[in-house]
Amino acid sequence: MLLPAARLRLFTHRFSSLLPPPPPPLHFSLPFRNSTSHSIPPNISATKTPKISISDTTKFTQTLLFIPPGISPEEVTENIILPGSNIVLGPYAGDAKVKEVQFVSSSVRPKDCPKDDRPEFAMLGRSNVGKSSLINSLVRKKEVALTSKKPGKTQLINHFLVNRSWYLVDLPGYGFANAPESTRMDWSSFTKGYFLNRESLVSVLLLVDASVPPQKIDLDCANWLGRNNIPMTIVFTKCDKVKNSKGRRPDENIKSFQELIKENYKIHPPWIMTSSATGFGRDDLLLHMSQLRNYWDN
Ligand code: GDP
Repeated sequence: MLLPAARLRLFTHRFSSLLPPPPPPLHFSLPFRNSTSHSIPPNISATKTPKISISDTTKFTQTLLFIPPGISPEEVTENIILPGSNIVLGPYAGDAKVKEVQFVSSSVRPKDCPKDDRPEFAMLGRSNVGKSSLINSLVRKKEVALTSKKPGKTQLINHFLVNRSWYLVDLPGYGFANAPESTRMDWSSFTKGYFLNRESLVSVLLLVDASVPPQKIDLDCANWLGRNNIPMTIVFTKCDKVKNSKGRRPDENIKSFQELIKENYKIHPPWIMTSSATGFGRDDLLLHMSQLRNYWDN
């Protein structure tokens, strides 16, 4: 399948297990809030930071930050990186407000989806990841997300038209704990068909629950998308959720997930932390989507 040129130009995070891994991060601190623990990789001591050259920094910026079209790595400064993300804000960002949202259709088959070629973002994630909550938070409406949550029920692709110009697409959740194997398989062929044939797909928003350690099914999904050159933004959900017990903190889970992803991606995909409970990351995620969309429309 030929991908639209805009999509290929937009995302440069080529997936390749054959390519050598990216150089280790040096001193550039990742834009996490409330934590300094991962600004310094474990193999580098805080007091003995090695001297690095500008080209090392540029290399790092190119591999770990998501640099959108219209800006070069040399122009990146920390104040244009969206908080709690690796996403650089470029010149295409803008018009990120959600003013109007309309439910358009529920499609049983990928080929029944709207055919007007408006750019779209597809939300995907494990059941219970917080997808409905995030959709409702993005559009600031209660109960917009209509997706059936019960395994075995008809799986639908729900299209919501935002500002009469782009689509937010709610895809069926995967990995129902109690679903029979046959239902999981249905999900695979159904949703994979959508990804492989949907030319107006600007990016998948792959939702990953930051309150739990990395799950194999999420990593498999990220790797499948990468192998098939489907652009993806990893949206970490429930970043407010700190367990009282000895459970790991969201930022620790996120770091582990990124380490695992890094093994397969030559350039790290964009990622952002969110919480539908507090609204953290909502506006920044919309800004990121605006820059992808505006470039696409350009
Ligand atoms: P879905 O199955 O992916 O649509 O998930 P839901 O949006 O229905 O959320 C599943 C559960 O996670 C619900 O109990 C939500 O209240 C909870 N939840 C969703 N988002 C957040 C969040 O940002 N923070 C916290 N603490 N809980 C959340």
